[in-house]
Amino acid sequence: MYNVEKEIFMPRKEIDEIKRKRFRQVVKYVYDHSAFYRRIFRENRIDIDRIKGPEDLPKLPFTTKQHLRDAYPLKMACVPKDDIVRIQMSGGTTGQPVIIPYTREDVEQWKKMLLRDFHIAGITSKDVIQITPAFGLWNGGFGFHFAADAINAFVIPIGAGNTRNQVRFIVDFGTTVLCATASYPLRIAEVAEEMGYEPSELSVEKMLLGAEPWSDEMRKQIEKTFDARAYDIPGLTEMGGVGTVGFECPERNGLHIWEDNYIVEIVDPETGEVVEDGKEGEVVYTSLNRTAMPLLRYRSGEISAVISREECECGIEHMTIKRIRGRTDDMVIYKGVKFYPSDVEQILASYGVRHYRIEVKDGIRVIFEGENGLAGKVAKDIREFLGFSPRVEVVANGMLERFEGKARRLVRG
Ligand SMILES: [Zn+2]
Repeated sequence: MYNVEKEIFMPRKEIDEIKRKRFRQVVKYVYDHSAFYRRIFRENRIDIDRIKGPEDLPKLPFTTKQHLRDAYPLKMACVPKDDIVRIQMSGGTTGQPVIIPYTREDVEQWKKMLLRDFHIAGITSKDVIQITPAFGLWNGGFGFHFAADAINAFVIPIGAGNTRNQVRFIVDFGTTVLCATASYPLRIAEVAEEMGYEPSELSVEKMLLGAEPWSDEMRKQIEKTFDARAYDIPGLTEMGGVGTVGFECPERNGLHIWEDNYIVEIVDPETGEVVEDGKEGEVVYTSLNRTAMPLLRYRSGEISAVISREECECGIEHMTIKRIRGRTDDMVIYKGVKFYPSDVEQILASYGVRHYRIEVKDGIRVIFEGENGLAGKVAKDIREFLGFSPRVEVVANGMLERFEGKARRLVRG
């Protein structure tokens, strides 16, 4: 029986021991089983006998998305094709797909990580879990499904799209847990209102939201709209999928990283140097407990910072990082000021704005649906808190595009 409590509340000493042991194992494992890692170790003159523990990580080269693209279809796999039980695909880019293979053990690992997350959120067999991410090559649908199925919950594997049906199923089956991309609940709320329902009176009590950065102010709105609690669930296909790398602290002190399974480093996106705790940078992941294609020092593009390595108020001793603020690809640099769409969202959502778009093209335009008088206030806040002056436009309700998956709110050139 999988003892989920024991793993969530693993003491620091034990985390460090397992982390060290698994790290040494995985370095040797990829060296023995992956032609790719053998080659890059050789190119970088790395003697794996001198890689003793996580403190030696900075000596290893990074693995990048381009490496994964070049490895299509299965060139980086560490196991024969016979041992692979499924593949998923990493999203967001065009061109050569990024394929992540799984062994049976990897699927189990994915499920176990999510079981930890479900446990923290208090999700049990009594829950009715509606899974709104797609079932397919993207990782969301199946990841939630494996864990929801394992706890014998009432699973609604509805998948993406058809928002009216989503609302109808919430009503007819009494959905208590909604799994979704972070931008989807407010779309569901809007359609529910059109159908004559008051979202706060729907049965949804908890939401597991991820796949895109979302601000604290947006969370407040989502929670108020549904009278429910919204959890941030991190995770990326390259590390095994949704919910694998960690989960939000129940005290909302940030994201706890499951350090017995993943090592997180925060690096300067330009120099690649590890930055000091508290300083923002790119999240670099090393998977310690995966078999088909473990990755060392994978550059995720996510922006975060280490909050703490000490025991948290919630009792969890796994390290805490900030909720993901953005991705390196979404960063906008305008007249020397750097910002992420979620920074603008934070301001907009504080005025109750749900739908917005940021256009970057010889200047910046922030367009949102809301009351006419808001443009001036928003412009002033952006100037004051973010340090740049965009053109701010208010449009009538329903004028901006709606999304049923990840929202495309940043439009360039
Ligand atoms: Zn905590």
